[in-house]
Amino acid sequence: MGFKANARKRRDAASAAAGPQEKEAEEYVGEIKCDVAGCDNWSDKKIGGRKLAFDRAVDVWGESGLTKDSKRVTVCKSCYRAWKKAKKDEPTEWT
Ligand SMILES: [Zn+2]
Repeated sequence: MGFKANARKRRDAASAAAGPQEKEAEEYVGEIKCDVAGCDNWSDKKIGGRKLAFDRAVDVWGESGLTKDSKRVTVCKSCYRAWKKAKKDEPTEWT
């Protein structure tokens, strides 16, 4: 029993030494960046990111406003909101 107590004591000391480094891990780090130029947000699905057809995204941001030139772009939650708002003002109907 005495041996086990000593082992735990040693491990506590080790994690205390590693303490300062662990603090930085709190900020969310995603995997997918928003494709809107100038936007630094993450657009991972779990934090509200959305995929848009490139043509639809171009309607709002223009080709120069997008960093990706593929059929689909991925946008963050706030960019998606902006896109939805911009599309709402258009008279064209789409499903
Ligand atoms: Zn964005």
